Amino acid sequence: MALKTPEQYEESLRKMNFKIYLMGEQVKNPVDHPIIRPSMNSVKMTYTLAQDPKHEDLMTATSHLTGKKINRFCHLHQSTEDLVKKVKMQRLLGQQTGSCFQRCVGMDAINAVDSVTFEMDQKLGTQYHDRFIKFLRMMQEEDLTVDGAMTDPKGDRSLSPSQQADPDLYVHVVEKNEQGIVVRGAKAHQTGAVNSHWILVMPTMAMRKEDTDYALSFVAPADAKGITYIYGRQSCDTRKLEGVEIDVGNARFGGHEALMVFDDLFIPWEQVLMCGEHEYSGLLVERFAGYHRQSYGGCKAGVGDVLIGAAAVAADYNGAAKASHIKDKLIEMTHLNETLYACGIACSAEGHKTASGTYLINLLLANVCKQNVTRFPYEIARLAEDIAGGLMVTLASEKDLCHPKIGKMVEKYFKGVASISTEERCRILRLVENLTLGTSAVGYRTESMHGAGSPQAQRIMIARQGNLEHKKKLAKNIAGIKE
Ligand code: SF4
Ligand code: FE
Repeated sequence: MALKTPEQYEESLRKMNFKIYLMGEQVKNPVDHPIIRPSMNSVKMTYTLAQDPKHEDLMTATSHLTGKKINRFCHLHQSTEDLVKKVKMQRLLGQQTGSCFQRCVGMDAINAVDSVTFEMDQKLGTQYHDRFIKFLRMMQEEDLTVDGAMTDPKGDRSLSPSQQADPDLYVHVVEKNEQGIVVRGAKAHQTGAVNSHWILVMPTMAMRKEDTDYALSFVAPADAKGITYIYGRQSCDTRKLEGVEIDVGNARFGGHEALMVFDDLFIPWEQVLMCGEHEYSGLLVERFAGYHRQSYGGCKAGVGDVLIGAAAVAADYNGAAKASHIKDKLIEMTHLNETLYACGIACSAEGHKTASGTYLINLLLANVCKQNVTRFPYEIARLAEDIAGGLMVTLASEKDLCHPKIGKMVEKYFKGVASISTEERCRILRLVENLTLGTSAVGYRTESMHGAGSPQAQRIMIARQGNLEHKKKLAKNIAGIKE
């Protein structure tokens, strides 16, 4: 099959047997659940656009394993051009969904696990890489969505995994036998978890010898017995239960995160990709995080395009578009947004080949990219709120707008320029609200801060990669100082 149609993707999810809880209730049909559905639509878009000849170059790639056309989300980057196309694809999808489309975590995970298992096998004589390639073949052949799962709950941050009062606060092996391993623990903030077919679990940080049981990577079907999902709430999420459209802001698309709990989950050996090789856990984290920090230079720029557009439309509808300060604010937003994208492209163009043949981004530039992402979307959002005006948070509800008695008042007094209907004005203001304060603010704001690692994690990498000694030498040379 190599490429699934969007309909086949949706059908494949319907066949899965997830154990999901949302707001205290077990969800039997996640695909049609009004809170979950928009997030499924976003992932579905990764299948839809791959069918469109116009986007074929960005959305698809040629498998280096089979030579077949596959979705780029299932591809191992074979060149810097592939890395650049990945970022462009993510910007496109951000523009089309105005939200997190979730599938990147799996793409970033396979690329990281590929090179790390290859290097680990070479050094230690283990046999993880072949198992991984077997999984990758299936993923490519069946066009699977895979959830890359890294972040453990971590409990007390001052204590290592094995020092925690509760050993399950980091994912670990509790039993090994001939057939495989038994795993306990949880992964938090798992993007797109219940829209995925498989999960690819990785360790959450560099592990020391005493935390060997926590140096763990494996793949499992997302609906395996032993996995429970507890769906994360988002700001304003229950608006999706009100049977309204305008008030939701982005009614068709969204993202989601969930707590993924492993309750004595059994993993056969052929699905285990790291088990105790603690000295490679840090490398896997560094590479996965690097790829995902690159990713944000694409997806956040794409969502930023939607927000800048929404602010500009709001200005048009307010009759304020010609004001010089509005124009200048839109320029500033564009400047910031393109800076994010520029970093995403730069770390891709400066990528290099790893021992397995898969290309890795320039880690310094990818970390600079993500560090900017922890700041610029906040400023872009601030400027969007400035341009939109206070009405974006004081606006009457859709039900009032449509009310037989008071609807006329809402229509009359929330009118901007005469040529635009109040409904259209409400729609654009609700979109700004959604992106800055509502469900999509999860992806555009707080995830920009903490997703792919909190700001301090990038600063550590920038310090490590920045080569300060080299810069000192340069300065001493120019200043005529002899060593
Ligand atoms: Fe992809 Fe961005 Fe969502 Fe991460 S935050 S999964 S990079 S869309
Ligand atoms: Fe993310």
